[in-house]
Amino acid sequence: MDVKKWLSQWGVILALCVSIIVVCFLRCCGWQNATLTQDFVQVCELIGKVFMNGLKMLVVPLIAVSLICGMMGFGSKSEFKRLGLKTFLFYFLSCFSAVLIGLFLVNVLRPGCVEKDLAAKILGQANVLPQQFIQLAHMDSSRLSDFFLRIIPSNVIHAASDNTQILGIITFALLFGFFVGRLPEDLRKPQLVFWEGIQHVLRDITRIVIAFSPIGVFGLVTPILLHTGIGVIRPLLYFVMTVLIGFFLYMFGVLYLLLRFVGKLKPWAHYKAMFPVMLMAFSTSSSAAVLPLALDRVETVAKVSPRIARFTLPLGITINMCGTALYECVVVLFIAQLYQVTQGISFGVLDQLIVVLMALLTSVGVAGIPASALIAITMIVSSVGLPIESIGVIWVVERLLDMFRTLVNVFNDTCGTVIIARTEGETLAYTTSHSA
Ligand code: ASP
Repeated sequence: MDVKKWLSQWGVILALCVSIIVVCFLRCCGWQNATLTQDFVQVCELIGKVFMNGLKMLVVPLIAVSLICGMMGFGSKSEFKRLGLKTFLFYFLSCFSAVLIGLFLVNVLRPGCVEKDLAAKILGQANVLPQQFIQLAHMDSSRLSDFFLRIIPSNVIHAASDNTQILGIITFALLFGFFVGRLPEDLRKPQLVFWEGIQHVLRDITRIVIAFSPIGVFGLVTPILLHTGIGVIRPLLYFVMTVLIGFFLYMFGVLYLLLRFVGKLKPWAHYKAMFPVMLMAFSTSSSAAVLPLALDRVETVAKVSPRIARFTLPLGITINMCGTALYECVVVLFIAQLYQVTQGISFGVLDQLIVVLMALLTSVGVAGIPASALIAITMIVSSVGLPIESIGVIWVVERLLDMFRTLVNVFNDTCGTVIIARTEGETLAYTTSHSA
């Protein structure tokens, strides 16, 4: 058996299993607060951070170079227009359906309509906010409201130095690639060779970083499991269940049908092919960090052409956050229900409509890094007149749900990429036999 190949396929799962075993052992022995355990956690955190840095350092170059190469590859303006329109349409409609699922579930399951005592207890948690939440709650919300300003950065080098300013890089790379593609042949050719060369180099660096994913994932997940535990979920069980059911319905309902009937693909083959991508998204809680692996998998396993993958995937990873949009909708309405139970504050259809719209809009501006949805949630909560501090009710389960929503975000982007490739007439590795 080829150990290297086995590890590349199963290494991350093995790491997650080992992490669970270690955490169970430490908790069973009551050692979770022992000095030695704290040292161990610090080492794990360091390993996790180094691994995340490795992935993050690739984000800006990979997005910029992929989009430049992708844009240069378009034969004509109309080809670009067609692909751009398809991409935005897919991302908008998929996000809209995700938010509608969230809206439906939160109104049917009513996770916030618990007994008055429990609702008051959950809201009480908002008064003991950790530092991170206090900062977020008082953050200048203009960071999201000037979203349009971030699309056109005043300084592209400055934007490139910040992983949360990817929108500006995207605009610049799209323009740059587009106009390089329009240069006369003698000027265009050397540029093409140059950027393609860089892309190959980035691909090789990506492979090295990804080879360390088992150990990196162990380092990332172990401290979270050790600190979180399952007990914290109990008071918020209905809320967590509502979010997870929403993710499940979206991933295995909407996306399954889209893959099957629009993409004319074998859906389970796609779930299987993207499994390592999902695991990585789950472990890192960062869509941006998963871009290198996602690109690799859609090109080498699904066999999407680089022309399409390098255009749709970097865009999707940056602006398309279906899982986040669904989550935002459920969180805000859950908080509203808690206030309804405890203080009789009513929350009408118009307010719900505002939440849906805001969830759609703000999810576009959410950066692909851990916990960035919290800023968007703060905005929505305040725009419908709920106290900003109330977002503290979800802080105990925030990290866990961040892992799941990042998984949904990234998986949705890979679905968009394979479906768009199919509508462009490409034959993929798991195209159904009766397809066009
Ligand atoms: N962590 C999510 C992502 O990277 C963003 C969020 O919902 O906070 O996709």
